[in-house]
Amino acid sequence: MRKTLWLTAAALALVAQSGPDGAAAQTRTTLDIYVVDVEGGNATLLVAPSGESLLIDTGNVAPAAAIRDAERIMAAAKDARLNQIDNLIITHWHGDHYGGMAELARRIPIRHFIDHGPNVQPNPEVDEFLTKVYPQLYTSAKHTVAKPGDKIAVAGLDVQVVTSAGETIGTALPGAGGPNPYCASFKPGENNAEDPMSVGIYVTFGKFRTVHLGDLTKNKEFELMCPNNRLGGIDVFLGLHHGVNTSNSEVMIHATHPRVAIINNGTRKGGQPDVMKVLHSSPGLEDLWQIHFSQLSGQEYTVPGMFIANGVDETLAAMPIAPIASPAPGPNTPPPPAHNGPAYWIKVTAQQDGTFTVANTRNGFAKTYSPNGRLGTN
Ligand SMILES: [Zn+2]
Ligand SMILES: [Zn+2]
Repeated sequence: MRKTLWLTAAALALVAQSGPDGAAAQTRTTLDIYVVDVEGGNATLLVAPSGESLLIDTGNVAPAAAIRDAERIMAAAKDARLNQIDNLIITHWHGDHYGGMAELARRIPIRHFIDHGPNVQPNPEVDEFLTKVYPQLYTSAKHTVAKPGDKIAVAGLDVQVVTSAGETIGTALPGAGGPNPYCASFKPGENNAEDPMSVGIYVTFGKFRTVHLGDLTKNKEFELMCPNNRLGGIDVFLGLHHGVNTSNSEVMIHATHPRVAIINNGTRKGGQPDVMKVLHSSPGLEDLWQIHFSQLSGQEYTVPGMFIANGVDETLAAMPIAPIASPAPGPNTPPPPAHNGPAYWIKVTAQQDGTFTVANTRNGFAKTYSPNGRLGTN
């Protein structure tokens, strides 16, 4: 029964909503990461102890979804006491990543726009945005086309670009570079044109290490990670391409052996059984956190509800045990369960010594991971 309780109204009433605290003027010491619920898109906000910020993606396109997602990002920015976004990475030109940008720019100044360059997957809506709207947004800001090996300046953090525009870093990060034993059994995957272009970053804060690779696909994971593991080990793996199965091969997940993975999945996007099996069997993975339950996981493959940040608008009494198959996209496909009401982020708070805490703002459940629990030395 435990797993079914989290969706009840009683559980929702217990939520301790984060808000600006009275200690606003106090010095920050931690790297704070907000994984914002943008309904199967991406919006991940990193705030350094210096107060400088890096936002990765802006949620969904289309008028109502863009406003909803920009507001949800603003709630996180407000919680972090930001009055501007210092750096914005748009990982790639898909509507679930750049979609809320114009709405967000109306609400908070964005000082630096970073992307992989032109759209390589022609789409009238995207192309119009890139010709008419985007240049106006960065006209009074900085604009950078990222290249692997570039550093993004965020005071207090080391942010290295490891993938962009289909290229990967050619040499291993310091301390990494050992042979990757998972390469031998790698199976190539299918992908569209834009996902493999994703800007991916590797972030270190003292001894704490995290990555966000946008929607980087399996074949690029192989290029980055084989024959040698150029990233090494990490503490928190962010995003995971919504947990979809065109990404998340063992050459990436098992080889980096994250202690914690946080999936930006949707109610019916990502979390398919084959991805969940890779994650649940990943060496050293202590917990998998999800921004949503996914119908594609079912109870069979999902994690306990305390690790899941969001329900749906129409409260379910229980989640079916069996995963459903992903329906083929088309005009007759029913929409996924909607979630436009109150939304909750997952927050990571990391310390210089490598200790980090992950918190579910829906139910107040939090867990601290000490650096002593790390698998191996790298
Ligand atoms: Zn949601
Ligand atoms: Zn995506």
